[in-house]
Amino acid sequence: MIQLTRLKSKLAEICDLKGAASVLGWDQQTYMPPGGANARAEQLATLEKLSHEMFVSAEMGELLEGAAAEVSALAYDSDEASLVRVTRRDYDKARKIPPALVAEIARTTSLGMEVWVKAKAESNFAVFQPILQKIYQLHQALANCLGFEERMYDALLDQYEPDMKTSALEEIFANLKAELVPMVHALSDKLNSVDGSVLHRHYDGQKQWDFGTEVLKRFGYDFEKGRQDKSVHPFTTSFSINDVRITTHVDENFLSSALFGTLHEGGHALYDQGISPSLERSPLSAGASLGIHESQSRLWENPVGRSLGFWKFFYPRLQSIFPDSLAPVSLEAFYQAINRVQPSLIRVEADEITYNLHIMIRFELEVDLLEERLKVADLPAAWNARMKDYLGIVPSKDAEGVLQDVHWSHGLIGYFPTYSLGNLISVQLFEQAKAENRDIPSQIERGHFSGLLEWLRTHVHRHGRKFLPLELVERATGSHFRAEPYIDYLKNKYSEIYLT
Ligand code: ZN
Repeated sequence: MIQLTRLKSKLAEICDLKGAASVLGWDQQTYMPPGGANARAEQLATLEKLSHEMFVSAEMGELLEGAAAEVSALAYDSDEASLVRVTRRDYDKARKIPPALVAEIARTTSLGMEVWVKAKAESNFAVFQPILQKIYQLHQALANCLGFEERMYDALLDQYEPDMKTSALEEIFANLKAELVPMVHALSDKLNSVDGSVLHRHYDGQKQWDFGTEVLKRFGYDFEKGRQDKSVHPFTTSFSINDVRITTHVDENFLSSALFGTLHEGGHALYDQGISPSLERSPLSAGASLGIHESQSRLWENPVGRSLGFWKFFYPRLQSIFPDSLAPVSLEAFYQAINRVQPSLIRVEADEITYNLHIMIRFELEVDLLEERLKVADLPAAWNARMKDYLGIVPSKDAEGVLQDVHWSHGLIGYFPTYSLGNLISVQLFEQAKAENRDIPSQIERGHFSGLLEWLRTHVHRHGRKFLPLELVERATGSHFRAEPYIDYLKNKYSEIYLT
């Protein structure tokens, strides 16, 4: 297998460049002094250029062809056949995009960021409108280069969620919306029955940090192969399977920020630490897609981290750390507080139920803009109309409405749906894990997570990027991707909290 060996060593070098870029990116968001920004941007651009050039080279194409012949008799799910199949897909896509378009998108979106910051500060959509229009035009061009069979949006979605189709998403979101919107309306006159103020008391930062560390260790996050630091926006990054880092943001006046942020990033990190060592230094040593990655973070954050069973074990510990704030608050009251439903304007502050409605609004608007059923100029009005329909509230200014998220200014179109996909998939996987290992719920009540982690390692983590996201869900659960487990989960959980 001479060609395969040569292919692997080329791909390993590209992985090294990408890993080095990740170290620089991590440093940029954690320890770099502000003065380092310009040089860092150049360093990252150079590494990106080198790895891109190596990847789209004619030599890579020849190696892929030679290797494909060598692995043709191997099993579909073997590391070797998977490596060639997945890399071929990446290669064909990367070759379709003209370098001039890549450069134009990079220029426009880096400017777009600055314009968006200004527009948001002034809460003035008119400032952002011209550049957003250009960003959409460039992404229409990008979609045309990448190609699509059915819908233009498919081409952009495929960058984040390989092989996912717009029409499939529309169907699954329509089902979800039909359940969630009435749920939100039904709860609307009961919202005051749950008090969330306990989360807004004073909580010492170092103690929050230490508690988060204890939970991470119990989850199975390996601090010998990772570390946690602070950053403004929490994230997970991986330099190799043996060095997967997370960050968190501590707010001394809001307990949820570091607490659930840490569980979330911990979930991402468990995934990356669990990839099979045989896939190290290859394009397969990453998550299957953004949606699958998000399913892992959400699983540990919500179905596990916001469950009563989890807090049966951890709440007495949290109470002993923060007796002044928590001693008078019962386990049940704390559980209700962390699961409080409140239609709100801001996506990142949304609860489990309304979060998905925020995502649907963005998804529907993106599709309409890209496919030219909606003009960029009419976007704020369309945004507000949907907010009213789905959540029953309307922002008084665009900074709290259409301008709230940074994503579009970055050119991230087709990205938002992966957040909701993550929610849906997290529950489908969790239900399957519990069906196969009935001890998991009682383990969680005792602060043990090895049963769940073991199941995820076997059925999800170790495979890295070998399978397409929907293929992975099907292999792990024996059933195609479905919204029903998630809908049932929300219905059961929230009717118990609000209707009893
Ligand atoms: Zn995440």
